[in-house]
This record gives sequence, C-alpha cells and structure tokens, in this order.
Amino acid sequence: MTDKTPIIPSATTSRADEIVPTLTSAQVARIAAHGRRRQVQRGEVLLEAGERSARFFVVTAGNIEIVRPVCATEQLIAVYGPGMFTGEVNLLAGRRGLAHIRAGEAGEVIEVDREHLLGLVQTDSELSDILMRAFILRRVELIAHGFGDVVLVGSSHCAETLRIKEFLTRNGHPYSAIDLDRNADVQELLDHFHIAVKDVPVLICRGEVVLRNPTNQQIADCLGFNEAIDQTQLRDLVIVGAGPSGLAAAVYGASEGLDVLVLESNAPGGQAGSSSKIENYLGFPTGVSGQELAARAYTQAQKFGAQLIIAKGAKQLACERKPYAVEIADGPRVPARTIIIATGAEYRRLSLDNLSQFEGAGVYYGATFIEAQLCRDEEVVVVGGGNSAGQAAVFLAQTAKRVHLLVRSDGLAETMSRYLIRRIEQSPAIVFQPHTEIVALEGSNHLKRVCWRDNRTGDLETHDISHVFVMAGAIPNTHWLDGCVALDAKGFIKTGPDLSPEDLAAAHWPLARAPHLLETSLPGVFAVGDVRGGSLKRVASAVGEGSIAVAFVHQVLHE
Ligand SMILES: Cc1cc2nc3c(=O)[nH]c(=O)nc-3n(C[C@H](O)[C@H](O)[C@H](O)COP(=O)(O)OP(=O)(O)OC[C@H]3O[C@@H](n4cnc5c(N)ncnc54)[C@H](O)[C@@H]3O)c2cc1C
Repeated sequence: MTDKTPIIPSATTSRADEIVPTLTSAQVARIAAHGRRRQVQRGEVLLEAGERSARFFVVTAGNIEIVRPVCATEQLIAVYGPGMFTGEVNLLAGRRGLAHIRAGEAGEVIEVDREHLLGLVQTDSELSDILMRAFILRRVELIAHGFGDVVLVGSSHCAETLRIKEFLTRNGHPYSAIDLDRNADVQELLDHFHIAVKDVPVLICRGEVVLRNPTNQQIADCLGFNEAIDQTQLRDLVIVGAGPSGLAAAVYGASEGLDVLVLESNAPGGQAGSSSKIENYLGFPTGVSGQELAARAYTQAQKFGAQLIIAKGAKQLACERKPYAVEIADGPRVPARTIIIATGAEYRRLSLDNLSQFEGAGVYYGATFIEAQLCRDEEVVVVGGGNSAGQAAVFLAQTAKRVHLLVRSDGLAETMSRYLIRRIEQSPAIVFQPHTEIVALEGSNHLKRVCWRDNRTGDLETHDISHVFVMAGAIPNTHWLDGCVALDAKGFIKTGPDLSPEDLAAAHWPLARAPHLLETSLPGVFAVGDVRGGSLKRVASAVGEGSIAVAFVHQVLHE
C-alpha cells in the first residue's frame, strides 16, 4: 500500500521549483546526448532501493515515482513528470540509492550512468547549477524528514549515540532516531531480542542489518560509503584528511584534471565541521556553520570527480620508494604519485584521570546544534581562550542558562579576535573566569559535577554542571607519519623555506632544487592547513594552502 501524497517538495518549502525543476526541451536534449532513451511500462522498477549501480533518469513522457519501502508498506517521496529528473547527492558519490525509482505511468525516460552524469555536470555549467542545487536541496529535505535507510536506537545521554549521530550528520546521511529514554516500549523490544545494554546504541542499516554499537567504519561499510571506489589504483594525488584544507585541495586538484583520492578517518569537515558558526570566512557575511561549509565543499569535490574514502584513516606512509603508498585501516595500500597531508590537529585533552569516562557523556570537543540541544537551559563550562572557545561560548549562551568560560591566563586579548571578545562582554549569560582550571570531574555514567580552582587564590569551587566543552590548544595529527617527513619541536610538519639545510641533509633530500612552498622534506609530499608548522589555524588559510599546494603538485608531476 502506498500513501499517494508525495513528501518532496514539502508543502512548507518555498523552493519547490528549485527542488523539482522542470528542464526545457533544449536542456533535455543536451542530457540525451549523454544517455539513452528507453520506453518504460507502468509499475516498472528502474532502480531498487540499495542497488549499487547509480543511475540518473530524466522523464520525457509519463511519470516516475520515488518510493521509500517502509516495513510492508511504501511511502511516496516524489513524483516526477516530463522534464523532471531523479537523483540527490548520493548519486554523485556513487552510493546506494535510498528509495525505489519506478514508472508511475507508461512513458519514456532518458537514462544516464554516473560517469556520464559527472562528465555532464563538469562541462555544462547551466545544467550543473540546476542539478547540483536540486540534489543538495533534496538531500536537505530528506534529512529534515529523517528519511533514509538508517534507524538509530539509543539514549541521547550516551556518548556512543552522540558519536553515531555526529558521524551520520557530518556525512550528510539522513537517519531517524529513537530515544530510549523517551520510548520505554522500544527498550522492551530490545530486551525481547536479547540486545543488552552494552550493545546499545543499535543501528538498523538499510532495514536489513542490525549493528550493535558499531564503529564509524562499520557504519560506512554497511551504508556502502566507500564501495564504488577502487582503492588500489595509482592516483596522481592522494590527500590525507578532508578538513577545509584537504577539501580545497580536492576541489582544485580534481577541477584541474588530476585523478584525486581523499582519505578521511572520520567525516568530512575536520575541526571546522564542529563549529556552529564561522563568521570570518570570506563571502559569508552572516556566517556559515562548519557543517554546511563542509557539505558544500564535499559535494563540490565530488562534482569535479574527486573520490572520498570515509572513516578510513591513514595508518602509515610507505615512503621508501616511489610511487609512495598510504596504508589505511583495514584496507589495501593506496599508491600515489604525490601526496598532500591535510590531517589537521585535535584539541589537547585535559589531564584528569577520569576524563575518558566522560568524553561524549558530558565532555565534548565541538559545539554544534547536537550538543546545544543536550544542554538547553543548563549551566555549561567552556575551557579555552582561542577563537573556537569564544565561538562556542557565544553560541551556547543562546540556549544555555549560563556559560562559564575558563582560561588559565589573565585575559583573552592575546588569543581571541576582538569581535568575539566584545560579544562575550555583552552576553549576560557568559561568566568569564580567568586564572582558572578544572581540577576534577564527578559522575557515573554521565558527568554530574565539575570542580575548578582559581590559581591565584587556590580556592576550589564545585558546581552541579553536566556539560564541559574543551577547546584548549591543539596537537597535530602526525603520529602516522613515523619519521617520513621532518617535524618541528611541537610535532607540526616543516615545509618549504622552514626546512633548514640540516633538516634536508637528515632527510637525504635527493633533488637539486629546494623544496617548493608547502613541500615537506620528502619530494612530492606536501603539508597544508593546521598540521603544518607555522600555519595560521584558520579556515581561510587552510583553504588557501590546500589550493596553492595543487599548483606545486602539477610541477612535481611534470618533473
Ligand atoms: C569549534 C571550532 C571553531 C572554529 N572556528 C573558526 C572560525 O570561526 N574561523 C576560522 O577561521 N577558523 C576556525 N576554526 C579553526 C579551523 O576550523 C581550522 O583552522 C581548520 O579546520 C583547519 O583545517 P585543516 O583542513 O587544516 O584541518 P582539520 O580541520 O583539523 O581537518 C583535518 C582532517 O583530517 C582528518 N584526519 C586526521 N588524521 C587522519 C588520518 N590519519 N587519516 C585520514 N584522515 C585524518 C581529520 O578527521 C579531519 O577531518 C575553528 C576550529 C574549531 C574546532
């Protein structure tokens, strides 16, 4: 049985024409040149939900229905008539489709496979704009309605549930969630299936597979995030890390014709993806959330043909001989003519014995809407004096009862931008506490109390606070490089003019030329963004470095 009211575009959206545009006959003809026309019969299934071969359809006669299987029934998501087309962002990535595509009436369609579709969006800018906008807006609608092929059953107070939510959200994958704290019946159901407390959260993937407290990699595997990608093919450029710098390198590299593969250990966006609002990035006068920026960059990189492997980090660099190879977790060695290291940095952890007990269960390293919902009308602590801490404090102050901003120094002027300091001063909900550090965390399953010390007086204070956001100092993600490239005293990668003659001699630099700007002590291997010694630790500079490095990649490939 099918509910016959299509859900997309939703009745409330003002962008129906952009979500489901009707192409002109001239535009349809241009698409037809990349595909084949075929007749379809009423009820004929053109693509099953979960099928691996991504294909794109334009209707020329009759109509197509997009239908989501729900248990024994079906839900009609959209109906496309003549001039309309199927697809959303999954198609660009070559991932499995989320719904059945079938003919609602007999008619004719143009069928285009993914390779030809990518060729089309790279060469036809008018169609590229229409298709990309529709694909992105359709994905936004799917997310807003919680559609998709994933159901997450867990408690919103559980660190692992939060991790999975963030992973799916940052990968832009629609899901629906059932909160165990609010649905006692579901707990009974889990008991019935002998799913123990330690197995929660449970992820029901594609309606078929039940994953118990899965790792991000297991989720990526189950949803087929990486299955369309040949991981053994020699690439012109392998980029390690999909934060702003890696994504910028991917967009520039792929758009300039390089064969680009990106490896990301978690989800696209990097640190910027954990920012609620970036206000100093050029072109976004009212700010942009890190997730939105990352999602756009991710789609842009895919549009130009870059491929991204998600939830598989680089474990080691095989740097003894060329081509180099990057060893990935549970995967083959990925061979590369050139490499850009864009692995960024992570926040320093507080040195408290029981910290790991509360990570994700009261202690967080990012402040996005997911975390803000958890601490609405409660008191929170933000630790750190940099821009990221300032931003988190200002953002959380919109919904939290009070935000205690703790720093060990005596002020913010040296570490934070003026505009953020002003906002903090103007926000009645933010209490700035200089010379202060957390000395103890208390609780059992979830953080319950925080004790901090004023370092000038030695006074201790304990507060009933269940949420601490740690944004203090960064450590570079360079452990996996294991001596392949020269590092500075803090573990950041040295590049270009920062490499001394001694560094180059120690690295046995083999070429007559000096290293290019952003090139490491290993020829053809570059470092960009926060992982690079002396970088500015800003989104704009990370994006700039990722783009600039590609120019030198071209030079190395022609050497
Ligand atoms: C909360 C917050 C707010 C911020 N706000 C602003 C702001 O308003 N304005 C501004 O200009 N800057 C801001 N910043 C700083 C900015 O986000 C960073 O400078 C920028 O993200 C650096 O980009 P990057 O690509 O170099 O590294 P990252 O963003 O750190 O990305 C590195 C990526 O590499 C991946 N990775 C790590 N190791 C491996 C591995 N071994 N294999 C594969 N992948 C790996 C990581 O998972 C990550 O996705 C903020 C940072 C944070 C945390």
